[in-house]
Amino acid sequence: MSGHLAVIGLGPGDPRYLTPEAQEALITAQALYGYGPYLDRVPACVGQSRHASDNREEGARADAALRHAASGARVAVVSGGDPGVFAMAAVVCERIKMGPESWRALDVAFVPGITAMLAVAARIGAPFGHDFCALSLSDNLKPWELVERRLDAAAGAGFVIALYNPVSRARPWQFGNAVERLRRHLPETTPVIFGRAVGRPDEHVSVTTLAEAGATSADMATLIIVGTRETRMIARTGRSPLVYTPRAAAEVSA
Ligand code: SAH
Repeated sequence: MSGHLAVIGLGPGDPRYLTPEAQEALITAQALYGYGPYLDRVPACVGQSRHASDNREEGARADAALRHAASGARVAVVSGGDPGVFAMAAVVCERIKMGPESWRALDVAFVPGITAMLAVAARIGAPFGHDFCALSLSDNLKPWELVERRLDAAAGAGFVIALYNPVSRARPWQFGNAVERLRRHLPETTPVIFGRAVGRPDEHVSVTTLAEAGATSADMATLIIVGTRETRMIARTGRSPLVYTPRAAAEVSA
């Protein structure tokens, strides 16, 4: 008996951002595994079991889902946003790599979702109009020195930078430190976008500058986009500003 495991992206929160493919994969699953608040977003399906776990138990969650699928069931693991962006798809691959041979025989599918950086960008214009990269500021799985080196390299090379996981209760100082680091490479006037809980009822998106960014509050539900020297803001009367990065870059950033 060959089981099936789908690793599904739920998007940032707005049900309209759930793809039809993800919807179908959710409905056809016999068991759902995920972080509780993500599972709560999925409407109940008759006969489907739900296995909620804490967001710090990703490895154990993947193991449980893989074991369940290996018993012959149709199992789904859910992630917010896209499952391949700082989320469960990599965890599942890591566990298959180190797990029993039977896990390699499973039919595994990865179902993409709209990731937070693209949902935030769409609220404000076109900040990723030119070359960009994404970094997680979490130093749970990598040393902070590596984060600093990557911030230096990305800002120095002129990439627009999306910052995931900027702050948590256990990581209160990292974001301020990152802003200080970026100020070594970029002008004080560089636009910085804060997108909080995008696609959810408490959504809040604001634009500030690198000079003010350190004093702007961010939390676990915030995605931050740091522009480049070329990133521009268009002020509009009675409307929120547009932020965009032109498609052409004139110079190599210092
Ligand atoms: N797989 C997810 C990212 C998981 S990492 C994705 O593709 O979006 C968790 C981080 O994602 C959060 O700390 C925050 O930086 C960002 N994030 C997730 N959902 C968000 C949302 N609705 N609005 C803003 N940022 C969000």
